[in-house]
Parts: sequence; structure tokens; C-alpha cells
Amino acid sequence: MQIVVDLNRCQGYAQCAFLAPQVFELHGEEALMFTPAVPDDQRERVRRAAAACPVQAIVVGERAGPGVR
Ligand code: SF4
Repeated sequence: MQIVVDLNRCQGYAQCAFLAPQVFELHGEEALMFTPAVPDDQRERVRRAAAACPVQAIVVGERAGPGVR
């Protein structure tokens, strides 16, 4: 499973880092780091994190698609 976070949308609310700390990590106030290739045992957490993001910045997919870095 792959994820992309739209960092232009992300407001650093840290809901994701709270729900899936192994995948999302907040450095400082608003520098979000994330693991694009989600380990299998983190899928459910990441789905929950994506649902909890107040600005829907987290896109979840089997393949994240073009433009992914
Ligand atoms: S929950 Fe959404 S807005 Fe908050 S840090 Fe994560 S991606 Fe950014």
C-alpha cells in the first residue's frame, strides 16, 4: 500500500502522527515526514490516520500514481 501526503494541504495537526507514529512523524511545527510505502502491519492504522486528517491531505492507494516522489 502506498500513500501520498499533500503537504500543501497538511496543516500539521498531527492526527496522523498520533494514529500511525511508525509511518508519520512530525518534525517541529509543520514538517511532516512519512513513509510512502506502508508496511502491511501498518495499513489499518494508516487508513484510520487518513480518515482522521482534518484536511484530507493523506491519499491512500495501492499505487500512489505519477508525480510521487
Ligand atoms: S493529520 Fe493531516 S494535516 Fe495533520 S499532520 Fe497529518 S497529514 Fe498533516
